[in-house]
Amino acid sequence: MEQSFLAWLRGRVRNLPAASVGVGIGDDAAIIDVPVGQQLVATTDTIIDQVDFVFGQHAAVDIGFKAMAINLSDVAAMGGVATSALVTLSLPSTKATETAAAIYEGILEAAQKYGVAIAGGDLSVYDGPLSISITMLGTVPVGAAWLRSGAIEGDVLIVSGPVGGSLLGRHLRPHPRLDLVSRLREAVTVHAAIDISDGFSLDLDRLCAASGVGVAIDTERLPIHADAVARAEATGRKPLEHALGDGEDFELILAMSVDDWEKIQSQAETWGLVRIGKFIGRTGLWSTGEKGLQRMLASGFIHGQKRDSGLNAIGLGNAPH
Ligand SMILES: [Mg+2]
Repeated sequence: MEQSFLAWLRGRVRNLPAASVGVGIGDDAAIIDVPVGQQLVATTDTIIDQVDFVFGQHAAVDIGFKAMAINLSDVAAMGGVATSALVTLSLPSTKATETAAAIYEGILEAAQKYGVAIAGGDLSVYDGPLSISITMLGTVPVGAAWLRSGAIEGDVLIVSGPVGGSLLGRHLRPHPRLDLVSRLREAVTVHAAIDISDGFSLDLDRLCAASGVGVAIDTERLPIHADAVARAEATGRKPLEHALGDGEDFELILAMSVDDWEKIQSQAETWGLVRIGKFIGRTGLWSTGEKGLQRMLASGFIHGQKRDSGLNAIGLGNAPH
């Protein structure tokens, strides 16, 4: 890689908040401070050209932003505060420097927006597709991470915003819900959380499975994004199906006690939170309605496999589970 690029990058990275970085770019490894009483939360995710995005069709700045945002969302889902990132770019040899700079514009934009340092990383040039791998580090109070496994019978089911139809463009510019972490920590005890990457119903099903509970969903309360309605017009499916099954919303699904929910109800709307059901002892996903409890099947998509949209997924349809 050209030295001038690395100098440019160091200059740009220097402008980011770096409170947690003891030693940053320029040594053999980074040193990250973890305050007393906190644990390190770490997550990593790679996105690859032609699998997760289409370089040339999607803007490089958006691809870089997304690579950061998906990792930030996982930190939010753990109830963590994101502090620093390690960024690894594997660059096709044609126009490697230009590509790196363009991708970094989005990475730096997300870092600035969410107050995260770039603590280090790697750049390689090779004869292969563009790949962006980001490891996000953050902190959680010791023993107080939000796990998938903590939901209990009687907890309320909450979603942090409208879902569905992200493929219309929102999937490239997600808003990881890190804003909710400190607000919720100050007010309540979150029992369990997961971010919606593969689809509301699929990710909710994962949370239920980890917690050993089921859930009764009032599907009429599920906030359906306008993009899900627009997608439904194009696909002939129902907006609700898109809301339940489309992925990459990067909103949070949360479980907390009824008492805690009542404590935050007055602010909940401003924060985007909607109560849409409750966790029950009987396993499975159930919809509540006039006919009583009806079994629902999780639908969503698994990243890394193509579907006809040319993006990153395969429809599981009504996969049995
Ligand atoms: Mg996740």
